[in-house]
Amino acid sequence: MTTDAIIVGGGFAGLAAATYLARGRASVAVIDTRQPRNRFADASHGFLGQDGSDPLSILQTARQQVLRYPTVRMIESEAQHARIDGSGFAVTLANGEELAARKLILAFGLRDTLPVLPGLQERWGKTVLHCPYCHGIEFSDRRLGVLYRTPVSVHQAAVVAQWGPTTLYLDGQAIDEESAELLAGRGVAVEPAKVAGLEGERMALSAVVLGDGSRSEIAALYVAPESCLSSPLAEQLGAEIEDGPMGPMIRTDAGRMTTVPGVYAAGDIARAPHSVSWAVADGVTAGTSAHRALVFG
Ligand SMILES: Cc1cc2nc3c(=O)[nH]c(=O)nc-3n(C[C@H](O)[C@H](O)[C@H](O)COP(=O)(O)OP(=O)(O)OC[C@H]3O[C@@H](n4cnc5c(N)ncnc54)[C@H](O)[C@@H]3O)c2cc1C
Repeated sequence: MTTDAIIVGGGFAGLAAATYLARGRASVAVIDTRQPRNRFADASHGFLGQDGSDPLSILQTARQQVLRYPTVRMIESEAQHARIDGSGFAVTLANGEELAARKLILAFGLRDTLPVLPGLQERWGKTVLHCPYCHGIEFSDRRLGVLYRTPVSVHQAAVVAQWGPTTLYLDGQAIDEESAELLAGRGVAVEPAKVAGLEGERMALSAVVLGDGSRSEIAALYVAPESCLSSPLAEQLGAEIEDGPMGPMIRTDAGRMTTVPGVYAAGDIARAPHSVSWAVADGVTAGTSAHRALVFG
């Protein structure tokens, strides 16, 4: 049986796309492994009407609402392979089952790799953060830090300073004079020492431990993760992938169609910067574009 559309990824973008396709009376199969990128955070901020809600419960409600449409099927599995099959597409699940669809929407999100430092990984999404707009005002006027990873960390530190007194931890790396001037202009302190780890009570953060054993007091640390596409499906289909400012991005047009006709991409994998609101908006665009292609194609 050929479904009108398969959506790989039932996070914010995928469920938004599914909602619009379902409202257009299209049959939809959403394949999802239920590992949204923000699952480490207790609260999601900035999404209208859901500011401060648990991201997993936002998705749980969205899943329940999408499933009220009779044409939607939700499959909890990994999509492992995708190929062009005549005028449509075939997607293989982890159990070997193959599904066919006329259109394909990729919404499988990004996977983050964090620096390996004692005390860092377990605080991700709580007191180790990447975006001060998502998690910043909660730490207003407290001591904040940015861990240097690439020259972009300098810009990150200059922005984070808006929320509280900020230190850029260079972790033994060097910055140029222009960067030093920018940081000085924003009142950012620079700590050149190597970083040995983080410490604090449970998920709270009280200090960055430096290489010589000394402690630098801090309430939240901002880190840019290294992000990659969660799945190789776009490569398998031959979709073009470009280098974005925050990692790889599947190239799409204004309707969120990839360079492979009939394949759409939405959410973090096809844009920068990233947020729940933008992922939802892109999901709506991809869903309605695919729907129009079904109607007129
Ligand atoms: C720690 C942290 C905190 C954040 N806080 C906020 C915040 O407060 N506010 C905000 O607006 N944004 C926040 N973000 C950003 C937000 O998480 C993303 O912008 C958003 O999740 C992107 O939605 P998406 O649908 O593109 O991807 P995701 O939400 O990551 O969903 C992708 C889905 O695809 C599934 N999947 C992956 N591969 C496959 C496969 N092969 N087969 C089937 N399913 C698959 C995954 O399991 C997942 O369910 C935060 C991000 C992080 C890392």
